[in-house]
Amino acid sequence: MTAALYCGRAMLNTIVLERGISGGELLNTEVIEDYPGFEHILGHELAVKFESHAKKFGAKFVQDTVVTLKKLPDTTFEAVTDSGNLYRAPTAIVTSGGTPIKLNVPGETEYAGKGVSYCAVCDGAFFRGHRIAVIGGGDAAVEEADFLTRYAEKVYLVHRRDELRASKILQKRLFENPKIELIWNTVVERVEADAQGLVNSLRLRNVDTHAESTLTVTGMFVFVGFRPNTGIIEGHVKHDAMGYLETDMNMETSIKGLFAAGDVRVQLTRQVTTAAGDGTTAAIAAEKYLAARRSGNLEPEIAASGGYAV
Ligand SMILES: Cc1cc2nc3c(=O)[nH]c(=O)nc-3n(C[C@H](O)[C@H](O)[C@H](O)COP(=O)(O)OP(=O)(O)OC[C@H]3O[C@@H](n4cnc5c(N)ncnc54)[C@H](O)[C@@H]3O)c2cc1C
Repeated sequence: MTAALYCGRAMLNTIVLERGISGGELLNTEVIEDYPGFEHILGHELAVKFESHAKKFGAKFVQDTVVTLKKLPDTTFEAVTDSGNLYRAPTAIVTSGGTPIKLNVPGETEYAGKGVSYCAVCDGAFFRGHRIAVIGGGDAAVEEADFLTRYAEKVYLVHRRDELRASKILQKRLFENPKIELIWNTVVERVEADAQGLVNSLRLRNVDTHAESTLTVTGMFVFVGFRPNTGIIEGHVKHDAMGYLETDMNMETSIKGLFAAGDVRVQLTRQVTTAAGDGTTAAIAAEKYLAARRSGNLEPEIAASGGYAV
Protein backbone atom coordinates (compact mmCIF):
# COMPACT_ATOMS: atom_id res chain seq x y z
CA MET A 1 0.00 0.00 0.00
CA THR A 2 2.98 2.31 0.55
CA ALA A 3 4.19 1.47 -2.97
CA ALA A 4 0.71 2.31 -4.27
CA LEU A 5 0.73 5.59 -2.35
CA TYR A 6 4.06 6.64 -3.87
CA CYS A 7 3.10 5.46 -7.38
CA GLY A 8 -0.18 7.36 -7.14
CA ARG A 9 1.57 10.46 -5.88
CA ALA A 10 3.96 10.23 -8.84
CA MET A 11 0.85 10.43 -11.05
CA LEU A 12 1.27 6.87 -12.30
CA ASN A 13 -1.84 4.92 -13.18
CA THR A 14 -1.72 2.44 -10.30
CA ILE A 15 -3.75 -0.68 -9.62
CA VAL A 16 -3.44 -2.75 -6.46
CA LEU A 17 -4.54 -6.35 -7.00
CA GLU A 18 -5.47 -7.73 -3.58
CA ARG A 19 -7.01 -11.16 -3.07
CA GLY A 20 -8.75 -10.26 0.17
CA ILE A 21 -9.26 -7.25 2.36
CA SER A 22 -6.33 -4.85 2.22
CA GLY A 23 -3.97 -5.12 5.16
CA GLY A 24 -2.21 -8.47 4.84
CA GLU A 25 -0.60 -9.58 8.09
CA LEU A 26 -1.75 -6.35 9.76
CA LEU A 27 -5.17 -7.94 9.87
CA ASN A 28 -3.76 -10.81 11.93
CA THR A 29 -2.11 -8.42 14.36
CA GLU A 30 -4.00 -7.17 17.35
CA VAL A 31 -1.95 -4.13 18.31
CA ILE A 32 0.94 -2.36 16.60
CA GLU A 33 3.22 -0.47 19.00
CA ASP A 34 6.27 -0.01 16.80
CA TYR A 35 5.08 1.98 13.80
CA PRO A 36 6.49 5.50 14.23
CA GLY A 37 3.90 8.10 15.06
CA PHE A 38 1.45 5.53 16.43
CA GLU A 39 2.26 4.47 19.96
CA HIS A 40 -0.69 2.11 19.99
CA ILE A 41 -2.91 1.30 17.02
CA LEU A 42 -4.94 -1.75 16.09
CA GLY A 43 -3.55 -3.62 13.09
CA HIS A 44 -6.76 -3.33 11.10
CA GLU A 45 -7.02 0.42 11.85
CA LEU A 46 -3.54 1.00 10.44
CA ALA A 47 -4.51 -1.07 7.38
CA VAL A 48 -7.54 1.15 6.74
CA LYS A 49 -5.35 4.26 7.05
CA PHE A 50 -2.80 2.83 4.59
CA GLU A 51 -5.51 2.02 2.07
CA SER A 52 -7.32 5.35 2.24
CA HIS A 53 -4.00 7.21 2.04
CA ALA A 54 -3.03 5.31 -1.14
CA LYS A 55 -6.50 5.92 -2.60
CA LYS A 56 -6.21 9.62 -1.86
CA PHE A 57 -3.33 9.76 -4.34
CA GLY A 58 -5.28 7.89 -6.97
CA ALA A 59 -4.36 4.23 -6.52
CA LYS A 60 -7.21 1.91 -7.51
CA PHE A 61 -7.85 -1.19 -5.44
CA VAL A 62 -9.29 -4.26 -7.11
CA GLN A 63 -10.22 -7.40 -5.19
CA ASP A 64 -8.83 -10.20 -7.33
CA THR A 65 -6.38 -13.05 -6.80
CA VAL A 66 -3.36 -13.06 -9.08
CA VAL A 67 -2.69 -16.55 -10.40
CA THR A 68 0.23 -15.78 -12.71
CA LEU A 69 2.48 -12.82 -13.34
CA LYS A 70 4.79 -12.97 -16.32
CA LYS A 71 6.93 -10.79 -18.53
CA LEU A 72 5.79 -10.84 -22.14
CA PRO A 73 8.15 -10.75 -25.14
CA ASP A 74 7.36 -7.03 -25.57
CA THR A 75 8.70 -6.61 -21.96
CA THR A 76 5.38 -5.60 -20.44
CA PHE A 77 4.02 -7.57 -17.49
CA GLU A 78 0.80 -9.50 -17.53
CA ALA A 79 -1.11 -10.53 -14.41
CA VAL A 80 -3.89 -13.08 -14.81
CA THR A 81 -6.36 -13.44 -11.97
CA ASP A 82 -8.52 -16.37 -10.87
CA SER A 83 -11.64 -14.56 -12.09
CA GLY A 84 -10.13 -14.54 -15.58
CA ASN A 85 -9.20 -10.86 -15.64
CA LEU A 86 -6.00 -9.79 -17.30
CA TYR A 87 -3.96 -6.74 -16.35
CA ARG A 88 -1.00 -5.43 -18.32
CA ALA A 89 1.53 -2.83 -17.24
CA PRO A 90 5.08 -1.91 -18.16
CA THR A 91 6.22 -2.53 -14.60
CA ALA A 92 4.96 -4.42 -11.55
CA ILE A 93 5.78 -4.45 -7.86
CA VAL A 94 5.27 -7.77 -6.06
CA THR A 95 4.23 -7.28 -2.43
CA SER A 96 2.52 -10.59 -1.83
CA GLY A 97 4.14 -11.18 1.57
CA GLY A 98 4.32 -14.62 3.06
CA THR A 99 2.48 -17.03 5.26
CA PRO A 100 3.77 -18.33 8.58
CA ILE A 101 3.44 -22.13 8.58
CA LYS A 102 0.97 -23.19 11.22
CA LEU A 103 0.93 -26.20 13.53
CA ASN A 104 -2.72 -26.83 12.64
CA VAL A 105 -3.72 -27.86 16.14
CA PRO A 106 -6.99 -27.01 17.91
CA GLY A 107 -6.94 -23.56 19.52
CA GLU A 108 -4.08 -22.22 17.39
CA THR A 109 -6.17 -20.08 15.05
CA GLU A 110 -8.80 -19.35 17.68
CA TYR A 111 -6.26 -17.84 20.10
CA ALA A 112 -4.03 -16.09 17.53
CA GLY A 113 -3.32 -12.64 18.99
CA LYS A 114 -4.54 -13.86 22.40
CA GLY A 115 -1.35 -15.70 23.29
CA VAL A 116 -0.52 -17.41 20.00
CA SER A 117 2.01 -15.47 17.92
CA TYR A 118 4.28 -15.93 14.91
CA CYS A 119 6.43 -12.84 15.48
CA ALA A 120 8.76 -12.35 18.48
CA VAL A 121 9.87 -8.80 17.61
CA CYS A 122 6.22 -7.79 17.26
CA ASP A 123 4.66 -9.45 20.28
CA GLY A 124 7.52 -10.23 22.69
CA ALA A 125 6.98 -7.07 24.75
CA PHE A 126 3.44 -8.19 25.62
CA PHE A 127 4.90 -11.15 27.55
CA ARG A 128 7.04 -9.30 30.09
CA GLY A 129 7.46 -11.55 33.14
CA HIS A 130 5.41 -14.39 31.58
CA ARG A 131 6.19 -18.08 31.04
CA ILE A 132 5.95 -18.85 27.35
CA ALA A 133 6.67 -21.62 24.86
CA VAL A 134 8.48 -21.43 21.53
CA ILE A 135 7.73 -24.18 19.04
CA GLY A 136 10.35 -25.26 16.49
CA GLY A 137 13.98 -26.29 16.21
CA GLY A 138 15.48 -24.31 13.34
CA ASP A 139 17.40 -21.02 13.33
CA ALA A 140 14.28 -18.87 13.71
CA ALA A 141 12.94 -20.81 16.71
CA VAL A 142 16.28 -20.87 18.50
CA GLU A 143 17.12 -17.23 17.80
CA GLU A 144 13.67 -16.01 18.80
CA ALA A 145 13.59 -18.16 21.97
CA ASP A 146 16.82 -16.46 23.01
CA PHE A 147 15.41 -13.03 22.09
CA LEU A 148 12.18 -13.63 24.02
CA THR A 149 14.08 -14.18 27.28
CA ARG A 150 14.54 -10.38 27.35
CA TYR A 151 10.89 -10.22 28.30
CA ALA A 152 9.74 -13.62 29.50
CA GLU A 153 10.60 -15.01 32.89
CA LYS A 154 10.92 -18.48 31.36
CA VAL A 155 10.93 -19.81 27.78
CA TYR A 156 10.27 -23.47 26.98
CA LEU A 157 11.54 -24.56 23.58
CA VAL A 158 9.32 -27.42 22.43
CA HIS A 159 10.84 -29.47 19.62
CA ARG A 160 9.54 -32.61 17.98
CA ARG A 161 13.00 -34.19 17.53
CA ASP A 162 15.92 -34.97 19.84
CA GLU A 163 18.27 -32.51 18.17
CA LEU A 164 18.00 -29.00 16.78
CA ARG A 165 18.45 -28.01 13.14
CA ALA A 166 19.64 -24.53 14.12
CA SER A 167 23.26 -23.50 13.53
CA LYS A 168 25.74 -24.49 16.24
CA ILE A 169 26.49 -20.92 17.28
CA LEU A 170 22.80 -20.25 17.93
CA GLN A 171 22.48 -23.56 19.78
CA LYS A 172 25.43 -22.65 22.01
CA ARG A 173 23.77 -19.35 22.93
CA LEU A 174 20.54 -21.18 23.63
CA PHE A 175 22.09 -23.84 25.88
CA GLU A 176 23.94 -21.15 27.85
CA ASN A 177 20.75 -19.18 28.52
CA PRO A 178 19.46 -20.12 31.99
CA LYS A 179 15.95 -18.88 31.22
CA ILE A 180 15.44 -21.48 28.45
CA GLU A 181 14.37 -25.07 29.03
CA LEU A 182 14.22 -27.58 26.19
CA ILE A 183 11.38 -30.04 25.85
CA TRP A 184 12.55 -32.68 23.35
CA ASN A 185 10.58 -35.16 21.22
CA THR A 186 7.38 -33.33 21.91
CA VAL A 187 4.56 -31.84 19.86
CA VAL A 188 1.67 -29.56 20.76
CA GLU A 189 -1.69 -31.35 20.76
CA ARG A 190 -3.84 -28.31 21.47
CA VAL A 191 -3.83 -24.77 22.84
CA GLU A 192 -5.99 -24.12 25.89
CA ALA A 193 -7.35 -20.83 27.21
CA ASP A 194 -9.04 -19.34 30.25
CA ALA A 195 -12.60 -18.01 30.46
CA GLN A 196 -11.47 -14.68 28.89
CA GLY A 197 -10.13 -16.54 25.88
CA LEU A 198 -6.47 -15.92 26.76
CA VAL A 199 -3.97 -18.78 26.42
CA ASN A 200 -3.18 -20.42 29.76
CA SER A 201 -1.64 -23.78 28.80
CA LEU A 202 -0.57 -26.18 26.07
CA ARG A 203 -1.43 -29.81 25.91
CA LEU A 204 1.75 -31.65 24.85
CA ARG A 205 2.46 -35.19 23.62
CA ASN A 206 5.80 -37.00 23.70
CA VAL A 207 6.26 -38.55 20.25
CA ASP A 208 8.17 -41.58 21.64
CA THR A 209 6.14 -42.51 24.70
CA HIS A 210 2.85 -40.86 23.60
CA ALA A 211 2.55 -39.57 27.17
CA GLU A 212 0.52 -36.36 27.38
CA SER A 213 1.22 -33.47 29.73
CA THR A 214 0.11 -29.90 30.37
CA LEU A 215 2.54 -26.99 30.11
CA THR A 216 1.36 -23.87 31.92
CA VAL A 217 2.23 -20.92 29.69
CA THR A 218 0.48 -17.73 28.61
CA GLY A 219 2.08 -17.55 25.19
CA MET A 220 2.98 -19.84 22.31
CA PHE A 221 5.34 -18.53 19.61
CA VAL A 222 5.37 -20.74 16.52
CA PHE A 223 8.49 -20.78 14.31
CA VAL A 224 8.16 -23.83 12.10
CA GLY A 225 8.70 -21.98 8.84
CA PHE A 226 7.48 -19.07 6.73
CA ARG A 227 6.46 -19.49 3.11
CA PRO A 228 6.92 -16.49 0.82
CA ASN A 229 4.04 -16.06 -1.64
CA THR A 230 6.07 -16.19 -4.84
CA GLY A 231 4.30 -18.98 -6.72
CA ILE A 232 2.59 -16.50 -9.04
CA ILE A 233 5.80 -15.44 -10.81
CA GLU A 234 6.35 -17.29 -14.08
CA GLY A 235 9.85 -17.79 -15.38
CA HIS A 236 13.03 -17.88 -13.34
CA VAL A 237 13.52 -15.17 -10.77
CA LYS A 238 16.45 -15.19 -8.34
CA HIS A 239 15.54 -16.30 -4.83
CA ASP A 240 17.29 -17.68 -1.76
CA ALA A 241 17.08 -21.24 -0.42
CA MET A 242 13.86 -20.41 1.43
CA GLY A 243 12.20 -18.96 -1.68
CA TYR A 244 12.44 -15.25 -0.75
CA LEU A 245 12.97 -12.96 -3.75
CA GLU A 246 16.42 -11.47 -4.13
CA THR A 247 16.49 -7.78 -5.07
CA ASP A 248 19.11 -5.13 -5.58
CA MET A 249 19.13 -1.91 -3.51
CA ASN A 250 16.37 -0.49 -5.76
CA MET A 251 14.12 -3.46 -4.94
CA GLU A 252 14.45 -4.70 -8.51
CA THR A 253 14.38 -8.47 -8.93
CA SER A 254 16.48 -10.42 -11.41
CA ILE A 255 13.64 -9.81 -13.92
CA LYS A 256 14.22 -6.31 -15.31
CA GLY A 257 11.27 -4.04 -14.52
CA LEU A 258 9.86 -6.34 -11.86
CA PHE A 259 10.22 -5.01 -8.33
CA ALA A 260 9.53 -6.62 -4.95
CA ALA A 261 8.88 -5.12 -1.53
CA GLY A 262 8.11 -6.26 1.98
CA ASP A 263 8.00 -9.73 3.51
CA VAL A 264 8.30 -11.47 0.14
CA ARG A 265 11.94 -10.46 -0.33
CA VAL A 266 15.23 -11.51 1.25
CA GLN A 267 16.01 -9.25 4.19
CA LEU A 268 17.16 -9.09 7.79
CA THR A 269 13.78 -8.50 9.39
CA ARG A 270 10.12 -8.37 8.39
CA GLN A 271 8.18 -5.52 9.90
CA VAL A 272 5.58 -2.97 8.84
CA THR A 273 8.26 -0.27 8.82
CA THR A 274 10.60 -2.27 6.58
CA ALA A 275 7.74 -3.22 4.23
CA ALA A 276 6.74 0.45 3.98
CA GLY A 277 10.37 1.47 3.35
CA ASP A 278 10.75 -1.18 0.66
CA GLY A 279 7.49 -0.03 -0.93
CA THR A 280 8.78 3.54 -1.07
CA THR A 281 12.04 2.50 -2.74
CA ALA A 282 10.31 0.13 -5.16
CA ALA A 283 7.81 2.79 -6.26
CA ILE A 284 10.47 5.43 -6.85
CA ALA A 285 12.69 2.93 -8.68
CA ALA A 286 9.71 1.81 -10.80
CA GLU A 287 9.00 5.42 -11.68
CA LYS A 288 12.61 5.94 -12.78
CA TYR A 289 12.46 2.72 -14.77
CA LEU A 290 9.35 4.00 -16.58
CA ALA A 291 10.94 7.38 -17.26
CA ALA A 292 14.02 5.69 -18.75
CA ARG A 293 11.73 3.46 -20.76
CA ARG A 294 9.79 6.41 -22.17
CA SER A 295 12.96 8.27 -23.12
CA GLY A 296 14.28 5.16 -24.82
CA ASN A 297 17.21 5.30 -22.44
CA LEU A 298 17.14 1.58 -21.64
CA GLU A 299 18.75 -1.56 -22.96
CA PRO A 300 17.69 -2.47 -26.53
CA GLU A 301 15.29 -5.16 -25.27
CA ILE A 302 13.17 -2.61 -23.45
CA ALA A 303 13.56 0.33 -25.82
CA ALA A 304 12.20 -1.82 -28.64
CA SER A 305 8.80 -2.09 -26.99
CA GLY A 306 8.24 1.67 -26.95
CA GLY A 307 7.22 4.03 -24.18
CA TYR A 308 4.29 3.52 -21.86
CA ALA A 309 2.39 5.26 -19.17
CA VAL A 310 1.54 2.75 -16.43
C1 LIG B 1 1.09 -12.35 14.01
C2 LIG B 1 1.95 -11.25 13.43
C3 LIG B 1 2.14 -10.10 14.17
C4 LIG B 1 2.90 -9.06 13.65
N1 LIG B 1 3.09 -7.93 14.40
C5 LIG B 1 3.85 -6.92 13.90
C6 LIG B 1 4.07 -5.73 14.68
O1 LIG B 1 3.59 -5.61 15.83
N2 LIG B 1 4.84 -4.75 14.13
C7 LIG B 1 5.40 -4.87 12.88
O2 LIG B 1 6.06 -3.93 12.44
N3 LIG B 1 5.22 -5.99 12.15
C8 LIG B 1 4.46 -7.01 12.62
N4 LIG B 1 4.31 -8.16 11.89
C9 LIG B 1 4.95 -8.24 10.58
C10 LIG B 1 4.18 -7.41 9.55
O3 LIG B 1 2.80 -7.70 9.65
C11 LIG B 1 4.69 -7.70 8.16
O4 LIG B 1 6.09 -7.50 8.11
C12 LIG B 1 4.02 -6.81 7.12
O5 LIG B 1 2.63 -6.98 7.16
C13 LIG B 1 4.54 -7.15 5.73
O6 LIG B 1 3.80 -6.46 4.78
P1 LIG B 1 3.75 -6.99 3.28
O7 LIG B 1 2.88 -6.02 2.56
O8 LIG B 1 5.10 -7.25 2.77
O9 LIG B 1 3.05 -8.42 3.33
P2 LIG B 1 1.65 -8.88 3.90
O10 LIG B 1 1.23 -8.10 5.07
O11 LIG B 1 1.77 -10.37 4.05
O12 LIG B 1 0.64 -8.55 2.70
C14 LIG B 1 0.65 -9.31 1.53
C15 LIG B 1 -0.67 -9.09 0.82
O13 LIG B 1 -0.62 -9.69 -0.46
C16 LIG B 1 -1.85 -10.32 -0.71
N5 LIG B 1 -1.63 -11.39 -1.66
C17 LIG B 1 -0.79 -12.47 -1.52
N6 LIG B 1 -0.84 -13.24 -2.61
C18 LIG B 1 -1.72 -12.64 -3.47
C19 LIG B 1 -2.20 -12.97 -4.77
N7 LIG B 1 -1.79 -14.06 -5.42
N8 LIG B 1 -3.09 -12.13 -5.36
C20 LIG B 1 -3.52 -11.01 -4.73
N9 LIG B 1 -3.10 -10.65 -3.47
C21 LIG B 1 -2.21 -11.47 -2.87
C22 LIG B 1 -2.31 -10.82 0.66
O14 LIG B 1 -3.71 -11.03 0.68
C23 LIG B 1 -1.86 -9.70 1.57
O15 LIG B 1 -2.85 -8.72 1.73
C24 LIG B 1 3.51 -9.20 12.37
C25 LIG B 1 3.32 -10.37 11.63
C26 LIG B 1 2.56 -11.39 12.15
C27 LIG B 1 2.36 -12.65 11.33
